[in-house]
Amino acid sequence: MASGELQFIRNLRSRAGRPGGTVRLGIGDDCAVLRPPKGHDVLVTTDFSLEGRHFHRDWHPAASAGHRCLARGLSDLAAMGAHPMAAFLSLALPAGFTRRAANRKWLDDFLGGLLHLAKQTKTPLAGGDTSTAPGDAILADMVLLGSVPAGTELRRSKARPGDILYVTGYLGGASAELAALAQTPRRFRSANPTGDHPHLYPQPQLRIGHRLRGLASAAIDISDGLSTDLTHLCEESRVGAIIDAESLPLHPLLNSKGDALQQALHGGEDYQLLFTAPASSKIPRSISGTPITRIGEIVRGKDITLRNNGKPERLQPAGWEHSL
Ligand SMILES: [Mg+2]
Repeated sequence: MASGELQFIRNLRSRAGRPGGTVRLGIGDDCAVLRPPKGHDVLVTTDFSLEGRHFHRDWHPAASAGHRCLARGLSDLAAMGAHPMAAFLSLALPAGFTRRAANRKWLDDFLGGLLHLAKQTKTPLAGGDTSTAPGDAILADMVLLGSVPAGTELRRSKARPGDILYVTGYLGGASAELAALAQTPRRFRSANPTGDHPHLYPQPQLRIGHRLRGLASAAIDISDGLSTDLTHLCEESRVGAIIDAESLPLHPLLNSKGDALQQALHGGEDYQLLFTAPASSKIPRSISGTPITRIGEIVRGKDITLRNNGKPERLQPAGWEHSL
């Protein structure tokens, strides 16, 4: 093990805090030891955060890159109604990366952003791995474990015709902020998670996810864009949907020019929840201060229709495509 790596692990261990709760043994041994709450099922999700694809060192503040690296998996746990149990970070850095003071600062701030969100969401960082990247890009892989009372997880596949469709929060803000960031990264250097930064510091909707267990019939998080994630939910549930353009909660960062609707429909990474509930289910207008908006309903068949000014049109998935 290189001395840089040892130092990194020591640093991580001291900043990750002591194990407790479901983590019986954290960083420092060959494995972490977890004990899920009695009668709970364990959920697992993994996400790559790759420099050049998911973040840019010259655009994103390091703390934002760290925050986003953890937020993606937390949003998946939220979508299934799970409580975070533990996070594991594997990080590959370009050869010689930590020799430069500016890079050490970057790494420090990256971990700071990640651990800040971890603390806020009570997600212990319980282990990971470091390695030298084969090229010049930073590669981070996050594994997250969560738990739900056995058999109560929310799934994509349980929506039924007649169910009402809802979204949490606002749509399109992340893609609007990303466009502004790409244009003038300087403006965002001092952005921090306490401000409303839907792209730089998305807030996973864990509390809403917990509340929806037992209320919602199906759920998914909006990572790839409403059109694409609604398609995933409908395919898994073998149903269609009708949504109303006028009802979509547009993020205030979207300007009112023509593409606001397109960004709300197809812009990715809002990390809000899209869920369905039977019409008889009492869905509150807001949960933990976040508005819940009714945007349409589930229908028979497999078509997804957008009603825009009363005119129905077929909605095609046009959000983020995962390519290999
Ligand atoms: Mg997801």
